[in-house]
Amino acid sequence: MMSAPNSFRLWDTIIIGGGASGMFAAIHLKKIRPQSSVLVVERNSKLGKKILITGNGRCNLSNVAASIDYYHGLDPSFVDISLRKYSVSVIRDMFFQIDLHTMTDEFGRIYPITQNSGSVLDCLRYTLSDLGVDILCSTMVSSVFFEKGSFIIHTDKGEPIRGRTVLVATGGACAPHTGSDGNGYDILTSLGHTCLSSMPGIVQIKTKREWVKQLSGIRLHAEASLFLDKDCIRKQFGELLFTDYGVSGPAPLQLSSHISRILSDENLDQSKRLYLHIDFLPGRSLSDICEELHNRKIKNANRTIDTILVGLVQNRLASALIKSAVELPLTEAISCLTDIHIGNLAERMKDSSIEVEGTMGLKEAQVTIGGALTSEFDPMTMMSIYLPGLFASGEVLDIDGDCGGYNLQWAFSSACIAADGINEYLSGKKNG
Ligand SMILES: Cc1cc2nc3c(=O)[nH]c(=O)nc-3n(C[C@H](O)[C@H](O)[C@H](O)COP(=O)(O)OP(=O)(O)OC[C@H]3O[C@@H](n4cnc5c(N)ncnc54)[C@H](O)[C@@H]3O)c2cc1C
Repeated sequence: MMSAPNSFRLWDTIIIGGGASGMFAAIHLKKIRPQSSVLVVERNSKLGKKILITGNGRCNLSNVAASIDYYHGLDPSFVDISLRKYSVSVIRDMFFQIDLHTMTDEFGRIYPITQNSGSVLDCLRYTLSDLGVDILCSTMVSSVFFEKGSFIIHTDKGEPIRGRTVLVATGGACAPHTGSDGNGYDILTSLGHTCLSSMPGIVQIKTKREWVKQLSGIRLHAEASLFLDKDCIRKQFGELLFTDYGVSGPAPLQLSSHISRILSDENLDQSKRLYLHIDFLPGRSLSDICEELHNRKIKNANRTIDTILVGLVQNRLASALIKSAVELPLTEAISCLTDIHIGNLAERMKDSSIEVEGTMGLKEAQVTIGGALTSEFDPMTMMSIYLPGLFASGEVLDIDGDCGGYNLQWAFSSACIAADGINEYLSGKKNG
């Protein structure tokens, strides 16, 4: 940490934002260019506030599958060079070199072996300190100007700071309580860049309430498919949690970014509706379930209808499914169920449809859809095509990844590319 710097000093690099990308860039830059003076300016009183809440406090820092297929934006191919050069194994090894041991779960998600995001932050913080990176916390960058060959950075504290290069690593506009509230877009826009408007990604889904409300609190594994009228957009198997407003959990979160994109599409036919189709027993066929229900009808003829799904799905879900498929009182004998009732019930278990109203907002989202247009940055260096010496990395750019460690992988890979680009620029190779 350092006290307020004076405006006579010219830093080689000023990194705006001490989050995942800013810290990783500072470390890599100092490693490849130890003689460089690097200052990280962070508005919060501590670095890496968001890292601590990632992966439910466990920090899912990457995914073995990370490739262009898991990224979105106007031009997802922008991630290609970063992910090739700073692949999952390279980033993992870089973490190992700063003492962080990692583990992979059955879905390919990579976590610190401690299962604690604090370990990731500790390894980053201690390394920054060892390498002599200067850190200025509790300081918000308000504006950046380019004058006479250097960047003048105004903050909410003291004198402006000057840098030969600047890396904007301010994050996106989601989870603003962590410090990333979209102000980085204003900085880039003031320097001539274009930023696409922000939408919430990896966020809870709001649905019509009648049916889901009675299921609120139920957590289960199911296959959820997102449909636009009759067209299936994407299927996702995984955990699903019913809430008062709709659905949450890994499977819906994965589908949510598609919902944001579809609903913001100016060309969307407004008569079309979005639906979630939920298959509560994805491993079993419709005929298989029908057969089992028929057998139960015979075997348990003296029981009441409300018991027909016992042991197959949770009781509250069972009664909601039965009520929606069978018009008889639940206290009638199972023997009263007709073949049509049983067919309806099996269909409900395989395909219950809920109309989607939208998503929760940026406040609740895990990633920002939108951001700085990638076509205005060089993917080989992350340098601005308009203003040499200006760089950007991480979520501030118009790249969002799927849920599962892809966004942090992007934050780290793009940070390394930016650090290499800064090194090259400072070495004079890209000057002029
Ligand atoms: C609840 C939650 C859980 C998540 N879980 C995962 C997960 O498990 N795996 C995964 O891959 N991704 C996860 N993400 C997404 C991931 O955290 C982000 O994509 C990633 O942190 C982006 O890194 P970044 O450095 O670009 O931005 P950030 O981490 O947002 O860092 C930006 C930093 O810049 C600072 N800043 C902003 N403006 C200024 C300014 N003007 N002056 C000074 N400082 C400024 C901010 O305070 C902040 O510290 C999660 C996100 C959330 C909200």
